[in-house]
Amino acid sequence: MQSKLPNIGTSIFTVMSQLAAQHKAINLGQGFPDFPMSETLINCVADAMRAGGNQYAHTYGVPLLRERLAEKINFLYPSTINPETEITVTPGGTYAIFSAFSTIIQPGDEVIIFEPAYDSYIPNITFNGGIVVPIALTYPNYNIPWDKVKAAITKKTKAILVNTPHNPTGMVMTKEDVLQLQEIVLSNHLYLISDEVYEHLIYDNKQHETVMKYPDLFARSFVCFSFGKTYHCTGWKLGYCVAPAALMKEYRKIHQFNAFSCDTPKQLGIAAYMNNKEAYLSLGAMYQSKRDYLRNLLAPTKFKCIPSSGSYFETYSFAALSDEPDTIFAEKLVKDFGIAVIPMSAFYHNATDHKVIRLCFAKKEATLEAAAACLLNV
Ligand code: PMP
Ligand code: GLN
Repeated sequence: MQSKLPNIGTSIFTVMSQLAAQHKAINLGQGFPDFPMSETLINCVADAMRAGGNQYAHTYGVPLLRERLAEKINFLYPSTINPETEITVTPGGTYAIFSAFSTIIQPGDEVIIFEPAYDSYIPNITFNGGIVVPIALTYPNYNIPWDKVKAAITKKTKAILVNTPHNPTGMVMTKEDVLQLQEIVLSNHLYLISDEVYEHLIYDNKQHETVMKYPDLFARSFVCFSFGKTYHCTGWKLGYCVAPAALMKEYRKIHQFNAFSCDTPKQLGIAAYMNNKEAYLSLGAMYQSKRDYLRNLLAPTKFKCIPSSGSYFETYSFAALSDEPDTIFAEKLVKDFGIAVIPMSAFYHNATDHKVIRLCFAKKEATLEAAAACLLNV
């Protein structure tokens, strides 16, 4: 059969998690929490199932959940979002992003992304007939080089994808970044896909600059979220997209004949649980203390921290320890030292190798201690 994605192999997250299991290694590779989610939320879902909430949900998402989400967005940012016309619940954040690409890309359209990049973007764009235009974040600060973005715009440029807080670097876009982005998007009539799945995982008193705070920019945007990150349930694969009504109308045409609708009891459960604001307001402080805990444990090693201000990842340079390719170094860590990490070259189309690995700190303290004990031996 002729492959639609001839150059795409197995996701690095699958590869590293399999290696971790095979070698019984501690897994700081794939990003997911190893601590339990809220019992209360589990009970809300069980209650919804017992109350009969087990049939197809509304295709745009359970109405009460969309109302709760609009209230939350208004409370946090604030931004006025219409739950009837501007929110669609999706089977995860990745699907929310994929559907946005499907909605806007015509064959041959160019889409600008920043690297290192979350691994689904490139295949998503390619699969939808688009052409990927990757721009590297500056190393080692991982800032967005706006002059290069301006220079990369052509007649074929259709959209830009941004991700803040950023996976894998932990970079957080500033207000100045968003203003630059707004200028470029508006003056070139582009669309924006904004991956904000880590909206609450933000540290050092920084603010999340959601594009929903900028009405002119939001008018051209699809903003994507994931409940998995917020409620420590990545396996639920539930998320949502927020977009202005005119764009959402087209988005829903795609969604209607793809997933059609999402898991009903989980939507009902989350809607019932969402009055607990503390559950998301406490996330920044909780994850910042985990980031710092791991940082302090690794301070005596030769791994050099490249500071993260958001997401549940921090990257570390191993240049003082080895000049091997990062993929070989990561393989050695899992096989010889019992710890799985992600080599950063996996997030570049051309496998750029700065001798950096990504660690996920969304773990119990005991896991972080065990991980540090492995890394201290390197
Ligand atoms: N974007 C980024 C940057 C992510 O890290 C993730 C989590 N894997 C997603 C999107 C997708 O989230 P989900 O698991 O809900 O599909
Ligand atoms: N978002 C997670 C990460 O970056 C995992 C996603 C996945 O396994 N597909 O590690």
